[in-house]
Amino acid sequence: MLVFNGQCHFFGFQVRYDKGHLLTRPFPENPSMSSQRPTPSVSVRDFQDLIHQMYYQKDLQRGIPGTFMWLMEEIGELASALQSGNDRENLEEEFADVLAWLATIANVAQVDLAQALQKKYGNGCPGCGLFVCTCAIDEKP
Ligand SMILES: [Zn+2]
Repeated sequence: MLVFNGQCHFFGFQVRYDKGHLLTRPFPENPSMSSQRPTPSVSVRDFQDLIHQMYYQKDLQRGIPGTFMWLMEEIGELASALQSGNDRENLEEEFADVLAWLATIANVAQVDLAQALQKKYGNGCPGCGLFVCTCAIDEKP
């Protein structure tokens, strides 16, 4: 697991990462995912906190059922973007939207995503217990 200590800019905010946070992969690691300027890593916790700051009051009013509906709509839009495959910018936006709505539901449901991820995946695949999964391909780990 990648652990990063330091500070990074995220949407204009200075963000501090603490040791032990589960972080997103730094870009560009894969040349096909590279862009003009380097994209900072963002921890799952920082992202959930940001979504909380931006939307929590509205999210509370909408509640879990209303919020879940929007997540499903975004997943449908991601499916369309993956299917068409010719608009890279739109595809990236749809991934971001799905993650944002997932973080929103986690906020309303009082779930700490970083903690949940660490608990379930921090020690390897939940199915086989390894960091490179050896579960059968047709098996849900
Ligand atoms: Zn596995």
